[in-house]
Amino acid sequence: MTQRIQDFLRARREDGPCLVLDLDVVRENYAAFAKALPDTRVFYAVKANPAPEVLSLLAGLGSCFDTASVGEIEMALAAGASPDRISYGNTIKKERDVATAYGLGVRLFAVDCEAEVEKIARAAPGSKVFCRILCDGDGAEWPLSRKFGCAPSMAASVLERAHRLGLVAHGLSFHVGSQQRDPRKWDAALKSAAGVFRELAERGISLAMVNLGGGFPTRYLKDVPATKAYGQSIFRALRKHFGNRIPETIIEPGRGMVGAAGIIEAEVVLISRKSQDDPLRWVYLDIGKFNGLAETMDEMIRYPIRTPADGDETGPCVLAGPSCDSVDVLYEKTPYDLPVSLEIGAKVLIEGTGAYTTTYSSVGFNGFAPLKSYVI
Ligand SMILES: *Cc1c(COP(=O)(O)O)cnc(C)c1O
Repeated sequence: MTQRIQDFLRARREDGPCLVLDLDVVRENYAAFAKALPDTRVFYAVKANPAPEVLSLLAGLGSCFDTASVGEIEMALAAGASPDRISYGNTIKKERDVATAYGLGVRLFAVDCEAEVEKIARAAPGSKVFCRILCDGDGAEWPLSRKFGCAPSMAASVLERAHRLGLVAHGLSFHVGSQQRDPRKWDAALKSAAGVFRELAERGISLAMVNLGGGFPTRYLKDVPATKAYGQSIFRALRKHFGNRIPETIIEPGRGMVGAAGIIEAEVVLISRKSQDDPLRWVYLDIGKFNGLAETMDEMIRYPIRTPADGDETGPCVLAGPSCDSVDVLYEKTPYDLPVSLEIGAKVLIEGTGAYTTTYSSVGFNGFAPLKSYVI
């Protein structure tokens, strides 16, 4: 935790859980990406944390933005990004929204099938499109496998159709799965991408760009490789599969840009047991799946939690949220070890929570307010 966050929390008097996000960490992360992948443009994935302060900081640093809706495009524009720095990266768009984006000046769109290409040809004529290819998400803690993308063999036809309809067949994209702890996973995707580049070259269409997606991790309980290791591994794979004709590349970090910048402060509401001699304690926090910690779904993301009793002997706990929904349990299959001296009313700090927390928070399920957020 940064000193700035510590000072902020010490001075805070309001009740309820909150996220505090330190912009200095976002700035450092942006610099780390720029250094690790010097020839690659950064398109920050807005959905990870769209706080206006984050978007303005990144716009000022020269970042571009990956957006998924007209709402996100408007946020990026409001933060100072010009439309040529915005990609409409969702493969699932209403034609009306494509038209609105085009009206706002956006000229770069993601597709993964011919029906989507046709929408873009009608509503955003002459724009650049890139086709998303499937990637198995293996090794990622939050895989994004089947919903987006098409088989590489189909991508060539999709892009050829785009070309025929007067669009610019610009390139390919993939996403190796979020919280991807293995930097070698870009290799297989780049191999497929190079195959599609060759296939289209044979059909007289030359692609220019590969969108390497997100997937760059945040450190939770387990260690993760440094950004530099991802840069090296990606560069090696580009060399291997594209030789000396390396295409233009972009990355779309979300979690890796903001995850480590945020800390959630929460409170222990209750500690109980299900029977008198049950060794397992149930620890209920004032934050759960519906007010910020949605990524604990299937216990996929395991956040580090700090308590005032750290250092004392620990014992296994089921960790749960405050709402009256029985799915609002954070960790049960794999219990979470917490100090035996932890008390009701204690404040706990949940680390690495700068990404995918505020925006996943419901508007007020069960009367619990959406997660408060302070950007400092
Ligand atoms: C969500 C998303 C990202 C960001 O992924 P992270 O794993 O958070 O870096 C990047 N690109 C696209 C298309 C996305 O949908």
